[in-house]
Amino acid sequence: MARRVAVIGAGVSGLSSIKCCLDEDLEPTCFERSNDIGGLWKFTETSKDGMTRVYRSLVTNVCKEMSCYSDFPFQEDYPNFMNQGKFWDYLKEFAEHFDLLKYIRFRTTVCSIMKRPDFSETGQWDVVTETEGKQERAVFDAVMVCTGHYLNPRLPLESFPGLCKIPPSQKLMAEATKKEQLIERGVMKDTSEDKLEFILYLDDLAACIGAKPSIPLLFLKDPRLAWEVFFGPCTPYQYRLMGPGKWDGARNAILTQWDRTLKPLKTRIIPDSTKPASMSHYLKVWGAPILLASLLLICKSSFFLKSAPDNLQDRISPYLVSIW
Ligand SMILES: Cc1cc2nc3c(=O)[nH]c(=O)nc-3n(C[C@H](O)[C@H](O)[C@H](O)COP(=O)(O)OP(=O)(O)OC[C@H]3O[C@@H](n4cnc5c(N)ncnc54)[C@H](O)[C@@H]3O)c2cc1C
Repeated sequence: MARRVAVIGAGVSGLSSIKCCLDEDLEPTCFERSNDIGGLWKFTETSKDGMTRVYRSLVTNVCKEMSCYSDFPFQEDYPNFMNQGKFWDYLKEFAEHFDLLKYIRFRTTVCSIMKRPDFSETGQWDVVTETEGKQERAVFDAVMVCTGHYLNPRLPLESFPGLCKIPPSQKLMAEATKKEQLIERGVMKDTSEDKLEFILYLDDLAACIGAKPSIPLLFLKDPRLAWEVFFGPCTPYQYRLMGPGKWDGARNAILTQWDRTLKPLKTRIIPDSTKPASMSHYLKVWGAPILLASLLLICKSSFFLKSAPDNLQDRISPYLVSIW
């Protein structure tokens, strides 16, 4: 019997979790407390449910080839950096393409997740949900928590009553300068340098599950692809080339990633260069240079004709002398 998985939330993470469960022959049930997919990408004018959501003018800050699902590239005509509405459309396309909507129970809030009394033998969980005031309890073999980390505003104002009062700018500047000096003297650590190298992080995760592409092997098997993987951008399709979750479309997605990037930039229709050009096209292209070259030739030859008799006489006379 397929193992049952509760997926909590139908945002970016929840949708891909449902799909991954299906790929692994698991039986997912997704609980989403709102009435639609997309999580914080579902724009609403007002947030009645208190959820954080994207604002109207939001444009993505990661380009489409880097932020797509690894087995579902954006359509080529999507802008590289798109507004929130377009991004939500993409999520909807993903959900519809893989037929995920039927696994989602909307307007259903997960109230609690508890280990079952026999958890040590079964590893099962008791999940309590609430739909329109009615509570239900169900048993699952696994739970995937995809509730997002931006959903609720995190302002611990009650615990820190003075936090909402921002100090005057002079005081803030003085503090920042003092901090800089301490960092320069080596008394304090510069935490801004504690950034995660994201490609190494992705590689580490992929290596754990055996999905990290082997570049030397790839150079032997498919040099063109290896070149693009090694020297090109680190797009998510790379982690679908081998190992679990291998996707047959990954190679093509990598080799066409620049086409999809350039496509939205081609805003003018230019004539197809493969078609034979018309006579007027040749005249336009070659007419001016030919005319210029002809004028130069005419000028040069008239100068030559004028000076020719003297030059000729100088050159011919020695011969004439020797003949006579
Ligand atoms: C303003 C803003 C701009 C951003 N811009 C970008 C960007 O340009 N590029 C980028 O890559 N990322 C961006 N992000 C990051 C963003 O967090 C991720 O893109 C992504 O939306 C996270 O998806 P998620 O599924 O983890 O969470 P969410 O989108 O928050 O979804 C969580 C879902 O869980 C549901 N849920 C929560 N609790 C329960 C419960 N108890 N029961 C049932 N359902 C529940 C919610 O209703 C929601 O649908 C941005 C974030 C913000 C806030």
